[in-house]
Amino acid sequence: MSIRERVSLPREVIRLSEGLRSIQEEVLHLTHPNERVFSPPDGWVWDGEQPVITSVSPSVDKVMARGLFRHILELLVTCKPEWAGDAGKLKAVGEDDFCRLIEYTIKGENPDFNRIIKTLGIAPEAAGFVFFHTVRPFLKLYSMAACSSLNLDEWMENYCPVCGGKPSLARVERGDGRRYLKCDHCGHEWLFRLLACPRCGNDDHSSLVFLRIEETPGYELHVCECCHGYIKVVNEKTGGDRRVMEDEAATVYLDLIAEQQGYRTDTGNA
Ligand SMILES: [Zn+2]
Ligand SMILES: [Zn+2]
Repeated sequence: MSIRERVSLPREVIRLSEGLRSIQEEVLHLTHPNERVFSPPDGWVWDGEQPVITSVSPSVDKVMARGLFRHILELLVTCKPEWAGDAGKLKAVGEDDFCRLIEYTIKGENPDFNRIIKTLGIAPEAAGFVFFHTVRPFLKLYSMAACSSLNLDEWMENYCPVCGGKPSLARVERGDGRRYLKCDHCGHEWLFRLLACPRCGNDDHSSLVFLRIEETPGYELHVCECCHGYIKVVNEKTGGDRRVMEDEAATVYLDLIAEQQGYRTDTGNA
């Protein structure tokens, strides 16, 4: 039985997630990763200290981004009617502001992003959601290209070596039981200590708990009693299937369980 059949989710969550996936896949199919999105200058070498994106900016095709943005807004009106008013205002955002908001989203410059959004009278949560999902496929392409041309194996931070994004999902590998975090923004996976909290860095074993969910073996929560943070985990050693990591709606129930128990995450854009 698939994980989808074992857990029941609100229909809107599934519709929104599937809608976003199909809209974003269009961009992934239309663009050639090595062409434009990641194009470091000749002779450029990654220093291994800061995420790649801090020295090589992704080139985002603004026309394509605007088309994607419009599709996401249309989807929101049907799946999240409470944001319909904000969707209308977002649709009317002028070209200059749009380009700046894309830029700030890519760089994670939230105060600058929120300043513009506030001036436009749009709810930051709705705006953050739409822009996050608009830049995401471009960051995925950027990441795919960067991964294949750089050695990112030495990175051990709790944020992504490619784009600086945070993880909300991790995978414990079948063979050696090592844990890889997956970037929410660009999808890159990197190795992180199993016995350390990816949110606050706490490595006191007595306050780190692996919460196994009886109904869904292989899909669990790693929580930290120190910062009350959590990360969702696909554990391949106990039957978890890594393909589930591509299906965001499939693990939303883990967020609900974590929140019910008082744990939180810094991401929550999905
Ligand atoms: Zn990333
Ligand atoms: Zn923690």
